[in-house]
Amino acid sequence: MNAQRKDQSSSKKDIEKAILVTGAGGFIGGSLCRYFKDKGFTKIRGVDKKPLPDWYQRIPGVECLCLDLSQEKNCRLAVEGMDEVYQLAADMGGMGFIERFRIECLRSVLINTHMVESAYRAGVSRYFYSSSACVYNTELQKNPKITALKESDAYPAMAERGYGWEKLISEMFCQEYWVERQMKTFIARFHNVYGPWGTWDGGREKAPAALCRKVIQAIDDGTRTIKIWGDGTRTRSYQYIDDCVKGIDMVTHCDELIATPINLGTSELVSVNELVSIIESIAGVKMRRTYDLTAPQGVGGRNSDNTFIKKVLGWEPNTPFKAGLKITYAWIKEQYDLRKAGFKIISD
Ligand code: NAD
Repeated sequence: MNAQRKDQSSSKKDIEKAILVTGAGGFIGGSLCRYFKDKGFTKIRGVDKKPLPDWYQRIPGVECLCLDLSQEKNCRLAVEGMDEVYQLAADMGGMGFIERFRIECLRSVLINTHMVESAYRAGVSRYFYSSSACVYNTELQKNPKITALKESDAYPAMAERGYGWEKLISEMFCQEYWVERQMKTFIARFHNVYGPWGTWDGGREKAPAALCRKVIQAIDDGTRTIKIWGDGTRTRSYQYIDDCVKGIDMVTHCDELIATPINLGTSELVSVNELVSIIESIAGVKMRRTYDLTAPQGVGGRNSDNTFIKKVLGWEPNTPFKAGLKITYAWIKEQYDLRKAGFKIISD
């Protein structure tokens, strides 16, 4: 790792800039607003199509607008007066959602198409796009003991049906807006993100949150039994939300990365069975495990090759999985208890 490189994230002079975060009512967008607010930015605008009371986080001092960004006129309004754009709005969820609702996933292409054009017309100086590891060629991901995916493994293309193809074409939009129109665009391919304020129930949640919830529920109802999707051998890597938002900032302020997709994830590969064991150790219980082989499971294995990010940024997401999951488990337990006590919580 090139430890000599200096942190390239936004600096003191950047905090005067006006920034737009789209998808700000969701998990990562809301956390990104908080990150920039904590860093001292005072001109932050968050936009989401969800009504304001349904936003996962409303950060004091952040201007919050409810707009559907699949419509071009709303994108024009959203970018007005903005210096930088962080485009995180998408219709997405965990495997249960992206395997069942491919059309909804594909339709997110409207958001990116209109957002990048509107940002260009508004003279935005930096445009960040949240892509996904789902762009990688699925042929390379059949085996749970996968070789970690490097950025060049997206082509020749055979992305995840629906969601992955939408991300791939939106990446290409971003790259061409730099090549043909010289707008600085930045693209990170997120590997699974988890943490407090993430979706944990309702059908869009991802494996770490879903399994935390199932364990909490099984303790609460006394069954001590959980149903696992698949046979438990599939592998993934998971990055903690704090690393993700820091990474977004660093990627967007590194000119070497203009129009160059980069992995943003950890390379700590974990099987579903291992994930359950980690949750059991956090909760101090042992569960009976049953396996649903008919449930959506996704590719056999997926991991992030971090050679490139270490070389360019001298950094990689580094929160140990167990440490991040411990905080996440505690947060989901709190949400679970609040809901049981009759309070409205996120994911309702
Ligand atoms: P999220 O579902 O919590 O947030 C996305 C937000 O976008 C939601 O609040 C949703 O209401 C909003 N949205 C959807 N359609 C919209 C529209 N037409 N106009 C305005 N807002 C709209 O998801 P997240 O986990 O915060 O993901 C953020 C971004 O990161 C997405 O682009 C997602 O594809 C990408 N990503 C996330 C992960 C992950 O593990 N969470 C992994 C890879 C990529």
